[in-house]
Parts: sequence; C-alpha cells; structure tokens
Amino acid sequence: MGSSASPQPPQEDVHVISTFRGLECSICGLAHPMDEVQTFCRGCGRALLARYDLQAARKGFQQGLYRRRRNDMWRYLEVMPVTDPAAIVTLGEGWTPLLQVPRLQGQLGLAGLWVKDEGGNPTGSFKARGISAAITRARQLGIAEIGIPTAGNAGAASAAYAARAGMTAHVAMPADAPRPMIDEVRAYDADLTLVDGLISDAGKWIRQGVADHGWFDMSTMKEPFRLEGKKTMGYELWEQLDGHLPDVILYPTGGGTGLIGMWKAFEELAQMGLHDGPRPRMVVVQSTGCAPMVRAFEAGAERAEPWQGAASLAPGIRVPGAFADDLILRAVRQSGGVAVAVEEEAILEATYRLGRLEGIDAAPEGGATLAALDKLLASGWVRPDERVVLFNTGSGLKHPELRSTKPLPEPVTVP
Ligand SMILES: *Cc1c(COP(=O)(O)O)cnc(C)c1O
Ligand SMILES: [Zn+2]
Repeated sequence: MGSSASPQPPQEDVHVISTFRGLECSICGLAHPMDEVQTFCRGCGRALLARYDLQAARKGFQQGLYRRRRNDMWRYLEVMPVTDPAAIVTLGEGWTPLLQVPRLQGQLGLAGLWVKDEGGNPTGSFKARGISAAITRARQLGIAEIGIPTAGNAGAASAAYAARAGMTAHVAMPADAPRPMIDEVRAYDADLTLVDGLISDAGKWIRQGVADHGWFDMSTMKEPFRLEGKKTMGYELWEQLDGHLPDVILYPTGGGTGLIGMWKAFEELAQMGLHDGPRPRMVVVQSTGCAPMVRAFEAGAERAEPWQGAASLAPGIRVPGAFADDLILRAVRQSGGVAVAVEEEAILEATYRLGRLEGIDAAPEGGATLAALDKLLASGWVRPDERVVLFNTGSGLKHPELRSTKPLPEPVTVP
C-alpha cells in the first residue's frame, strides 16, 4: 500500500537502511521501545527523542548515498525513523531551495545571506515535513485516527497526509486562522473544529477527544516523529552549503520543533564525524505580542511561563506555551544563540521587503526573521563578516489578509 504513495519507486542503492533504534527521554534518559506507539516520557512526562546507530549511519553518509536518492527529505534515510522506504507517506516534502538573496545581502552589508524557502512544500509550509514523518510512523503502528491542535498550517498538513494514508484527522484551530488554512482542511475532508480562542484552547479540545475517543495525539512535541521530519532542514543546510554550516540561523519559533530538530541534526552530524568546528548560533524569533521564550531566555529560566493575551498576525508564532520549552531554551543556550522579539509592524514591513527585493512571497513568520536580523545587526550581535540563514517557513499565498491594501488599478478596455 505504501509504495503507491511514493512519487519515485525506491531505488536500487537504498541498501543502507534506517538505523533507528528506539526513543529516549530528552530529560531523564528513560528508554522507550521503537515498535510501540509512543507519545512522551512514561517516567517524567517530557519530550522523547529518536535515537539511531550513528556509527552504522555514518557509513551510508560517507558513501554519499543520500545524493543518489529521492529529492525530498527522505533522502537521509539512515537517520530517519522508517526502516521500510515503501511505507513512507509522502507528497514530496522537503529538499527546498536555499536561496541566495544578493540584493538584501548588499543592503544589509553581510558576508553571506540565504533564505531557506519552505513555502514550496506540499500544503504550503514546512509543517509538511513533520507531519509526513508522524503520519508514516502512525500508520505503521496501526493508528487510524489522529487529533491535532493547530494555528493552521499543521492542521492543513495533517489533513492532507491523513487523507493520503487513509486515516481520519480531527483538526482543531482558532476560528480566526487565515481562511486558506481552514479551506485546506475541508478540501482534504478532515473533521474540522473551529475554536473561539488560541491554539492552546484547541489543544484542550483535542485532549478531550483523545480521552473520549482514543484519537492519537499529534500535538507539537507530544509526538516524537514530527521532530525527525523537521530536523531534515538541518541536514539539507549541511548538504546545500557543502558541509559548511552558517554562523547564525534565525528561526520563527512557536512550538520550537524545527529549532530543536536542527540542533539535533547538527549533533548527529558531529557524532558521525561529518561536521566539526563551531555549530550555528540558533536564534529564537518571536513577536512582541507573544514572546514566552524570549521572556524566559532573558530571565535565565529553564522553563517558560505561558504568555497571556497572545496576539500576532503571524499565526505560527502565536503560541502562548511550548510543550518543549526546556529543549528550546537548552538548544539556544548551548548554541550561544539568543531570543529576540520583534514588533508587529516590523514583521509586516520585512515580509513585504522579501517580496519587493527578492521575489520571495513570504509568510509573516519568515518576515519576522528578517526583522530580527535588522535588530541583531543594529545591536552588533550579528557581525557583517558572518554567514546567516533566515527561515521562511510558509507561503505568502496562505495570507490574503496581509495583501497590499493599495487600490487595484482600474481595468482598461483594450480596443
Ligand atoms: C508552525 C509554524 C511555525 C513555528 O514552527 P515550530 O517549529 O513549531 O516552532 C513558524 N512558521 C510557520 C509558517 C508555521 O506554520
Ligand atoms: Zn523522562
């Protein structure tokens, strides 16, 4: 059944398979077996991390097998949690362009600037990566119904991949989510609940469904494989930059899956002996309207308090509380990074600037990373001789509400 979901048949050289061995608690270290349904730690309730036999994985990497495989995130099969490539539920997620942005780079006076443009992913955001991995694992373990609270994009992706896997998705999202995200969930015929509130309220709704109906909870970081999908962004940066990781990565942070995931990827690359030397400094970017991680970082705290009255035009970072707040803070601090909040007006201006200067139709979360870069250059935290990667995590097409308010030109009558 799975092979029909794959755009390219598995190729002959896929003889080095996944080295997935099991899961381990990120905090207490408790081991959890790989052949059972896993959520979070049975001991302490914190997030689980997938573990691999990296000594075995390194052989496949050294032979460069990934280069001859499919052009999507599953090319890094050695460090992905699926032993049977035919079981992968895919729509072609990942392997997105790492764009040079010379006009912007010139204006900012930087030695190197790239935008990792995730807007071209299936369902228009990088949520496709995490959800492809999670749905693949869920189907392998016989799960038929999933529940997911979302700001919008994760719900759209879950609805699509669940449809493709023949599973039922229950999606709960804020009623004021951008309309295209609501429409996508309906297009894939998932069960949609609109919540008068935030993603945290949607989370309560889903928890009830999990308790009452036994749905599998795919909430951010309460399910261990979305992280594995998103970590591939780190492997792609490494491959696309020929093994020379950037000095600084700016990441629009909601639940933090991508940031924690990339940090895990860099650790795995180091353990495989494929990268030595300094790793990128990871920057958490949030809005001043919802900045729980920034507040916790600045207070020197290990956990973050939920943000009251969260508001932002960027739904992906309008997340009052992250389940893996401790892992986000740990990654940022270990990397020598920082957490920055940017004003809503600056987010909007920077989103438009990406379009005007570079032809990138960014999601506001992508714009937020550029606004944060402005701040960090002004403060001297990013130096002009550094190489910087911004993450545009979604497509501007998802945001009709942010389009230009300039009046349309009058139609002309063509004689
Ligand atoms: C979900 C989302 C984010 C935040 O991603 P996390 O990895 O959960 O922090 C950022 N941007 C967009 C467009 C999103 O959909
Ligand atoms: Zn634990």
